[in-house]
Amino acid sequence: MDIAFIGLGNMGGPMALNLHKAGHDVRAFDLSAAACDRLRADGVPVAALAAEAAAGAEVVVSMLPASAHVESLYLGDAGLLAQLAAGTLLVDCSTISAATARAVAAAATARGIDCLDAPVSGGTGGAIAGTLTFMVGGPAAALERARPLLEKMGANIFHAGDAGAGQTAKICNNMLLGILMIGTSEAIALGVANGLDPKVLSEIMRRSSGGNWALEKYNPLPGVMEAAPASKGYAGGFGTDLMLKDLGLAQENAAAVRAATPLGGLARSLYAAHSLAGHGGLDFSSVIRMVQKPDRS
Ligand code: NAD
Repeated sequence: MDIAFIGLGNMGGPMALNLHKAGHDVRAFDLSAAACDRLRADGVPVAALAAEAAAGAEVVVSMLPASAHVESLYLGDAGLLAQLAAGTLLVDCSTISAATARAVAAAATARGIDCLDAPVSGGTGGAIAGTLTFMVGGPAAALERARPLLEKMGANIFHAGDAGAGQTAKICNNMLLGILMIGTSEAIALGVANGLDPKVLSEIMRRSSGGNWALEKYNPLPGVMEAAPASKGYAGGFGTDLMLKDLGLAQENAAAVRAATPLGGLARSLYAAHSLAGHGGLDFSSVIRMVQKPDRS
């Protein structure tokens, strides 16, 4: 398939590369020259503009930071939607508000363009390995068009419901992830403060009733898990500011439907404080620094 891939960051870069490796005709684009250079070095053709990447594409996939970036890419007179041919399939994998996803879908549908919100879970490891989980909102027929591509980037594909439903599922998941990373950090920090070996403690909890995804794949303490961002200076991975954005989306949504999410609200405040302390660009698992005893050795 002829695919335009817009947004080549920590997630989009490896996702675009997997489509390229699967033999699809990918033209990539990012505003960042460094991100473009990484893809070029991997042999993926890079366009000079989003519109150039999208010209003649059957499918446009985007992986951008937040709602405002998706709105500015697709909507308005200068937006990409005005330039895409009817019959194009648009798959936005960014985590954004369900309201923005629905607005983009409505504008796309009005132009005869199929549109899916398809946010992902699985982290940068899942993006590289092609084992992401996709949570898809939009028409079932559009999902069937997208499925062969999604299968090259992910291992689990769920149809959450109509336009915006993928985003709603995603913020529920990420609210839980944000909370459980803080809980896991507290438990590890408590054990370490008592002199326990963090590797042994993490393994005990992983195989006990406290077992969770952070303990399985993403231990927040440096040195416990070689492949986790914690062991790489919290570089790459899922930025604290992106987690903060998702927890904000969850709180906005909770207010709109009058849901009680006390731990989600507290988690948002803790990541906000962590970001204000200068850690917004670090992987979100660095939140363990808020509860760690200072190293006085
Ligand atoms: P990132 O900041 O690494 O990458 C985003 C990229 O988008 C950047 O390279 C930026 O230059 C580019 N960009 C921004 N506006 C653009 C535009 N108008 N045109 C072209 N490129 C543009 O972010 P990421 O970690 O790859 O995350 C992307 C999305 O995926 C976010 O919504 C995030 O919440 C979500 N997500 C991230 C992870 C993760 O582990 N990193 C996991 C699941 C979901």
